[in-house]
This record gives sequence, structure tokens and C-alpha cells, in this order.
Amino acid sequence: MNRLYIGGRWAEPKGTASIAVHNPATEEVIDHIPVADASDVDDAVTAARAAFEPWAALPPQARGEHLANLQQALTSRAVQIAQTIARDVGTPLKIATRVQTGLPLGVLKGYAAMSPPQPETVGNSLIVREPAGVVGAITPWNYPLHQIIAKVGAALAAGCTVVLKPAELAPLAAIILFEAIDEAGLPPGVVNLVTGDGITTGESLVRHEGVDMVSFTGSTATGALISRLAADRIARVALELGGKSANVILPDADLGKAVKVGVANALLNSGQTCTAWTRMLVHRSRYDEAVELAAEAAAGFTLGDPFDEATRLGPLISAGQKGKVLGHIERAQADGARLASKPQDLPDRGWFVSPAVLSNVDPDSALAQEEVFGPVLAVMSFEDDDDAVRIANNSRYGLAGAVWSGDEERAMKVASRMRTGAVDINGAAFNPLAPFGGYKQSGIGRELGAHGLAEFLETKAIQR
Ligand code: NDP
Repeated sequence: MNRLYIGGRWAEPKGTASIAVHNPATEEVIDHIPVADASDVDDAVTAARAAFEPWAALPPQARGEHLANLQQALTSRAVQIAQTIARDVGTPLKIATRVQTGLPLGVLKGYAAMSPPQPETVGNSLIVREPAGVVGAITPWNYPLHQIIAKVGAALAAGCTVVLKPAELAPLAAIILFEAIDEAGLPPGVVNLVTGDGITTGESLVRHEGVDMVSFTGSTATGALISRLAADRIARVALELGGKSANVILPDADLGKAVKVGVANALLNSGQTCTAWTRMLVHRSRYDEAVELAAEAAAGFTLGDPFDEATRLGPLISAGQKGKVLGHIERAQADGARLASKPQDLPDRGWFVSPAVLSNVDPDSALAQEEVFGPVLAVMSFEDDDDAVRIANNSRYGLAGAVWSGDEERAMKVASRMRTGAVDINGAAFNPLAPFGGYKQSGIGRELGAHGLAEFLETKAIQR
């Protein structure tokens, strides 16, 4: 693929560099994408700017019809999308189908039916909500289509236009999305694609004067850099960043279920999930039992080819990520943690890491504090509910978390004291209409549902 999508058509890039895309399960090169340079980004922002006024002026229902057409075009490509993500991210096909594809299709359907809030009257003022303008969207590789749709669906429903820069490591689902955009006949310039790397393409987008708002998902370090760049020209930012979420298992919980679901959550997508419950906190009376159960559960996550039905754990995204994760496991043991799980045999090729359950983890150690983004679970003990809350909140992150208890009121009390953007009680289901985002260094703003749409709106007061 050597084209960008600008102003409603596939365009030759002016930038001459390209990036190889790998299959992390085989280490083979499966495609190449162009690196859009500053002048390509300028073309895309110019197209988005030209499309903004007419798109913003459409009645919300008309924008919704465009989004519904896009949703249909994307749905007809569902199998291709799941297979593509299984190939460029390495997510096992079943999960690539259900989560990586099913979730964004559902989110887009929701945005096709959603409008910005109605104006309200306060005294002699009419308070109206208006689209924020041209949005620069920068997304990561872990859930490549979902992260894009969470931004693009909400921004378009709000009346904004978008220039998207997907991650270089897993860009292929974005290309399928733009094939669907082309087929659905969205007005030219409403959504534009510039592929490339962070420094060339991403920074050009963040620095561009024509971008009113930057919506970013990725690491906290890059989020901080983007914030600083955007601050130079007071551009709005929305940031969805890292996490180190705590799964608090109170002594009256169904331990077997809490540990089983907790391990599955921590290992989802090989642990490359920002909300992963990577810290399991267990009451000391049940700690040893929990460690044993967690190690057993992790052993059931068979590593292998993402296209094999029996596979529950795919590879990590890159050789670099594999090295980083192995470094964390080694350092944790040097810091006094114990590897409780038995390492599995690894396939001959591919960036696989065996799932690791580590016990005796010091809550202040690097493993308990840093986002690993791999199949690694730290199990820690607590004395009582206050201690559990203290350890759970001992983090610079605040994205998600969980509480398990036989007493829902007790679980609610603990959940309300956790400084995070979401808490699930007793394994309650993920709700794609609920606001999603973080406290502390996990981000600024919310995605999904009506709160996600509102991120892309300005507020105006008209006095009469
Ligand atoms: P990044 O945060 O660096 O990447 C996310 C996106 O930002 C990508 O599209 C990337 O481009 C882009 N980007 C990178 N640098 C810049 C820049 N200077 N200006 C503008 N855009 C930029 O994450 P990585 O892929 O490097 O992963 C590193 C670590 O981040 C992981 O190990 C994990 O811990 C964490 N992470 C967390 C995620 C989360 O959802 N919480 C998601 C992804 C990663 P490109 O990659 O194409 O060069």
C-alpha cells in the first residue's frame, strides 16, 4: 500500500520514505506503508479544514446517515478486518473477531445514532454546543480499529473533521477503514489518512496550526510530549494514556472466579491492553491459594499461531516490546519477586513471551509501578480494606480497576475510594456506552458514549 487518503481520494505521498509492517507471529514483512511528510500532512489538514464548515452545518441526522453507511461498509469487511488484525497485531482470531472487530462496529453504530446535546437556556443566554473544528487523531497499535473508531466516530458525530495518523506497527485495519469510507461516500475531506511514524507524521500533525484539537491514545511519555507541543499554540488535547490497574479481591469474594477472570483480563491481547488488571491484590488469608490458582490459570493460556483455534495467547507486537517485557520480568525477580508460573515452550519464530505470574511483589517496585504491556501479572497481598485501597491508589496511573466481594455494598465502598476512571465489580461486563478514560497520568478527557462525543464540542453562550 503506497497511498494516503486525502480530500476524498487515494493520493500519492510526497514523502519518499516507507515503513515495513511485520507479522509478529512469524517475523515476516507483510506490507509497507508510506511515511507522510509535513507537506502531506498540510494537504490533509487543508482538506479537513475545507470540509469542516459544510460538515458542521449538516443536521446531526444527516451526519448520522453517513456514519450508518460507513458502519455498513465496514461490517461487510468484518472477516477481512479480523484476519488483518490477527496478522499485524497477533491477536488470536477469535478475540480479533469479537473484540478487535465487533467492539468498534458496535461503537460506530452507537455514534451513527447519537447527536450533540440540544441548546439550553440559562437566564438571557442560549448555551449552544458547537464542533471543536479539525481534529488530529493519533492512535496506537494494540486495538488498532477500536482506538480509531472511538475518536473518528465521536468526532464526526460532533461535526468535526479528522486527520488520522494510525500506529506504524499495526496500520492495516486503518487502510481497510478508509476503503470503507471511500465506498460509503463520505463528503471529501471529512476524514483523511496520513500513515507514518511518530516523529515525522505525528509531530507534523500536532504542530499544524490548522489542527484545533489533538486526540491521542498511547503511552504517557508520548502523551506528555504531545501536550507540550500543543500547549505552544493552546490547542485542545484529549489524552488516553497508560494504566496499572488493580484487581482488588476482598476476603469474602468467590476466589476461584475472581482469579480466573482476573488472569484472563491481565492476559487479554497478550497483556497489551491499557486497562489490563496487571496488579492482583488479594487478602493475606487467601494469598497463597490465589497465587497457585493464578499460575494454574496462566498455564491454560496456550501460546501459538493466532489463526490456530487452540491459541489463547498470541505474540507481542514487536521484538522491541518483547525485549522490554522480558527485561521487566528479570528486573522484578532481581527486586525480590518470585516467578510462580511455569514458562511454556515458545514457538520457533515470533515475538512470543510466556505468561508470567509473579508473587511477593513489593508495591513500590518497578513491576508494581510501571506499565509493562505484556503477559505479566503482579500478585500482592493486603491486610484489610483500607490497606487494599491504599495499595490500589499507590500508582501514578488511574485508568481502570476491579473489586470482588460477596457483599456488593462493601465492594461499592472500595470502588468509590479508588482513584480511577472505571471500576468493575464482580466481573461486570464492559459497557461501550460508558465514559472511558483516566485519572492522574492515565489521561485527560473521556472517550465512548455521549461523554466521548462531548470531548469534541466547544461551548458558546449567546445573550439575548
Ligand atoms: P506511543 O505512545 O509512542 O505511540 C502511540 C502513537 O503515537 C503512535 O501512532 C505513534 O506513532 C505516535 N507517536 C509517537 N511519537 C510521537 C510524537 N513525537 N508525536 C506524535 N505522535 C507520536 O507508544 P509505542 O507504540 O511506542 O509503545 C510504547 C509503550 O507505550 C508500550 O510499551 C506501552 O507501555 C505503552 N502504550 C500504551 C498504550 C495504551 O493504550 N495505554 C497504547 C500503546 C502503547 P508510531 O508508533 O506510528 O511511530
